[in-house]
Formats: sequence, structure tokens, C-alpha cells
Amino acid sequence: MKTAIFPGSFDPFTIGHYDIVMRGLQLFDEIIIGIGRNASKQSYFPLDERIKTIQSVFAGEARVRVMVYEGLTINFAQAQNADCILRGVRSVQDFEYERNIADANKQLSGIETVLLYTQPEYAHISSSLVRELHSYGNDISTLLPKIN
Ligand code: ADP
Repeated sequence: MKTAIFPGSFDPFTIGHYDIVMRGLQLFDEIIIGIGRNASKQSYFPLDERIKTIQSVFAGEARVRVMVYEGLTINFAQAQNADCILRGVRSVQDFEYERNIADANKQLSGIETVLLYTQPEYAHISSSLVRELHSYGNDISTLLPKIN
């Protein structure tokens, strides 16, 4: 049984994130979506709302679980007996950032990171873009996954 942690802020969880999870399910038996909580950083969407929304999106998918964690992703991954960390890459900037974290995580814990490239149609979608659109009163529903 191969389990991957998909860690992130998911503030909010977008169709780009959804796509990574759905494709990850073809590689792993189980995916734990780990919402990283940073007590010193205020999120835009409340944590409770993010948990409920992601749970609803995957209500019909028993192989996806949603959890909240604090601290290092590798500690969370080890506590959950996860085999891998799953992340997404949209751009060269993402790649450089993800590589640094993946190298550090591998060095510190031995846990491998699997990176999936974004599908081109989602490459421009980020939580920060969605937050900005929302803050100016725009409809963001096309950028968010459908709720089951
Ligand atoms: P973090 O705050 O840890 O960067 P995010 O919630 O912004 O967390 O993103 C979680 C993961 O999802 C990251 O690996 C990020 O690169 C990836 N990701 C975000 N948006 C997309 C997208 N549109 N396509 C593919 N991967 C994405």
C-alpha cells in the first residue's frame, strides 16, 4: 500500500490542486491532503471552511483523506507512515522552489518527493490569484473543483 502526502496551504484548494490529486491517485493507493497550519500566519479562507470544502470535493473518493498538521511536512509524513510527498510544478520558479524543499526533505528524512507537472490549462491557476479575484468580488467558481 503506497501512501502519499499532498501538503499545502490550499487557501483555497483550486482545480490545479484537484488535478494533481486525481492524477496522483493513479500512482498511489491513498493520498492524504495535508493542510499545513501556520499559527503565526492568518489565512484568507478559514481553516474549517477549507477542511469541509476539500472533504466535500472528495466525498466519493475513499482513497483521499484530509488532515491538518503543524510543523515540518516530513514529521507529518513519518507520523502517517507515508511513502512519498506529492507536489505540483507549474513553472521554472516552482521547479527551483520544489527542488530545494525536496532535497532538504530527502536529506533529513529519506522521504522521496514525486513532482507532477501541471496540465497547461491550469498552469496560471494559483491560490493567490483566486484570493485576489475573490477579494475584488469576482466569481471564482470556475477555478474551484466541483463539490460532490
Ligand atoms: P504551498 O503554500 O505549500 O506552496 P499551495 O497550496 O500553494 O501550497 O500548493 C500546494 C502544491 O500544489 C504545490 O506543490 C504547488 O506547486 C501545487 N500547485 C498549486 N497550484 C497548482 C496548479 N495550478 N497546477 C499544479 N500544481 C499546483
